Amino acid sequence: MIPKRDAFLLPEGQAYLDGNSLGPLPAHAPARMEEVMRREWGEMAITGWNRAGWISLPERLGDRIAPLIGAGPGEVIVGETLSIRLWQALAAALKLTDRKVVLTDSGNFPSDLYMAEGLLAQLGQGHELRVVAPEEVAGALTPEVGILMLTEVDYRSGRRHDMAALTAAAHEAGALALWDLAHSAGAVDVDLKSADADFAVGCTYKYLNGGPGAPAFLWAAPRFAGRLHNALPGWLGHAKPFDFDLGYAPAAGIRGMRVGTPSILAMAALDAALDVWEGVDMGQIRAASIALSERFIAGVEAACPELALASPRDPALRGSQVSFRHPESYAICQALIARGVVGDFRAPDLVRFGITPLYIGEEEIDRATETLREVMAGRLWEDPAYAARQAVT
Ligand SMILES: *Cc1c(COP(=O)(O)O)cnc(C)c1O
Repeated sequence: MIPKRDAFLLPEGQAYLDGNSLGPLPAHAPARMEEVMRREWGEMAITGWNRAGWISLPERLGDRIAPLIGAGPGEVIVGETLSIRLWQALAAALKLTDRKVVLTDSGNFPSDLYMAEGLLAQLGQGHELRVVAPEEVAGALTPEVGILMLTEVDYRSGRRHDMAALTAAAHEAGALALWDLAHSAGAVDVDLKSADADFAVGCTYKYLNGGPGAPAFLWAAPRFAGRLHNALPGWLGHAKPFDFDLGYAPAAGIRGMRVGTPSILAMAALDAALDVWEGVDMGQIRAASIALSERFIAGVEAACPELALASPRDPALRGSQVSFRHPESYAICQALIARGVVGDFRAPDLVRFGITPLYIGEEEIDRATETLREVMAGRLWEDPAYAARQAVT
C-alpha cells in the first residue's frame, strides 16, 4: 500500500475502483482552487498572468508530469484535450515522413481513430488509416507505414502493448511511433526515453486525478526540436505572442505546440493533483497494482464462475485495470454501484475495475470481490432498476 489515501477526499462509504475513468478529488484541491480564484483571479486579476505565473503553467505542469512518464524537463506541454493533442502529435509526425499509411489497432479508443481519420481526410493527400488487430501490429509494419499510432493500454481489456519492442520494430521499418498514454500515465511504469518513442500524448483526469475534463499533455522526443510542426498554430505557440505579428513563427521546443489561452482554473486543480504524485515512484505503484490485481482476479474467479476474465492473465501484459465479461455487465455494474462498489461498464459486455494503489488497498479489493459474489450468487443484477441506461455509462 502506498500511503497516499489521506491525500484524497474519497467518495464516502465507497470502494472506488473507477480511477481509470475519473480520479478522485485530492484533499487539498478545493483550498488550492479557492486560493487561485480569490487571491489570484480575484485580487491580481489580469496581472495574474505575470504575478501568479499563469502564462508558464502549461510548461511547469509538463515538467511535473515528465518524471511519471520517463520524459525530461522542457519536453512536455499541458493544455487542450487529449483528442486535440492527438491531432497535433499525428500532424507533427506526418510532417516528418513521406509515407502515407498510419497504422493503428482495433483496441484503440474510438476518439483516436476518429481524430486520425479526420486529419488524414483533411490533408487530402491520399493517406490511409490502417486498423489491424492488436496482436497483428508488429507484422503489419510494412514499408508504406509512416506512423505507428497506438494506445499503450487498451481501455476495455487493459491489454498492454510492449512499447519498447513495438517502437523498435517501427523504427526498424522506417516508421515513427506515437503513443497514447491515457491509461498509462500514473498507472504503469512508462519510460518514453528508454523506449525511444517519438511522440506521446495523454490525459490527466484518469490515473493522474486532475479533475473532470482536466487538460491533456503532449511530449515529443527532443531530437525533433526545431522540426516540430504545429497544425493548430494558435498565438501562444508563437515565439513572441505579444509582438502580435501577422505571420506565425513557432516558439522553440515543446512550447511551440501550445494553442490558445490555457484554462488556469483547470490547471490549478491539476497542479494540486500533481502535488500528490511528488516523490511517488512509479515502480512501486506498478508493483502494488500488480499485487492488488492478482488478488482481485483470484478472488473473483473463485467466487464468481459466471464472470470470464477479459484482461490478460499475465500481469506483464496488463495495465492497471481488470475487466470481466458477462452479457449482463451493465446491470451488474449498476448493482455494484448501488452497494458502494464503483467500477464501470464498457460496451458491449465488460465490467471494468481500475486498480489505483495511491488510494485503494486490499480492503477495497476484498470488499469489491465480496460484493461481486453477492450480486452474482443472488442474481441481484436482475432488479429492473439496474437495466435503465444513462447518458454516460
Ligand atoms: C480517455 C481517452 C480519450 C479521451 O479523449 P478526450 O479528448 O480527453 O475526451 C482519448 N483517447 C484515449 C485512448 C482515451 O483513453
